[in-house]
Amino acid sequence: MFDKATILHADLDAFYASVEQRDDPALRGRPVIVGGGVVLAASYQAKACGVRTAMSGRAAREVCPEAIVVEPRMSAYSQASKAVFEVFEQTTPIVEGLSIDEAFLDVSGLGKVSGTPVEIATQLRKDVLDQVGLAITVGVARTKFLAKVASGVAKPDGLLVVPPAGELDFLHPLPVERLWGVGPVTAEKLRDRGITTVGQVAQIDESALVVMLAAAAPAGTCTRSPTTATRGRSRSAGAAGRWAPNGHWAGKSGRWTTWTRC
Ligand SMILES: [Mg+2]
Repeated sequence: MFDKATILHADLDAFYASVEQRDDPALRGRPVIVGGGVVLAASYQAKACGVRTAMSGRAAREVCPEAIVVEPRMSAYSQASKAVFEVFEQTTPIVEGLSIDEAFLDVSGLGKVSGTPVEIATQLRKDVLDQVGLAITVGVARTKFLAKVASGVAKPDGLLVVPPAGELDFLHPLPVERLWGVGPVTAEKLRDRGITTVGQVAQIDESALVVMLAAAAPAGTCTRSPTTATRGRSRSAGAAGRWAPNGHWAGKSGRWTTWTRC
């Protein structure tokens, strides 16, 4: 059992939009939407206006008329991803990619070589910024789940450590949406019942929770689990597949996968 916080979850901030802002100084500090038909990514300035990933382009322009819409440049994103994964692999030999722009890094056993997990995370953020020109947020915790939740809370451009003794204190006040695997549909079902925090979820008997969430799902609804939400790609970003012009990625299996951005 892991008893120390040695798992890092590293996740680039607003990845596609950040690459666009990196490559075009005129876009920096401005609301940027990648993708005209459907929003593939939004800069934090666009998110502040209410733009969300997967929103229709029309709805996005309504909430943020001043946004600059750019066409996706998949080869640029693939190249940036590859460069970031090279930094990950310089950091530790144990890298587990979750998608084009995020990975878990296990830094246990590196104490004498590279320093504490916090020192390693700080250096990783600096290296990604210096070598690739992108901001990356890192969560540090005892488990992958907690590290992933921590990076979500710390965004953008942040570093957050969850000490083992403080895990429940960290989790319980969070809104239910922060739980990995809880999407908008599940969150709404919980909120409809007055359950708004992780602490409230923790007080509910597991079988009651299953009944509550399953019963509210319309027939044929697919529930997105953490496994399916994080499927996908392994370490060599950009090498083991190819992009389609519509933003889909084909891995070694040749199966197309749509990457959702955050
Ligand atoms: Mg990301």
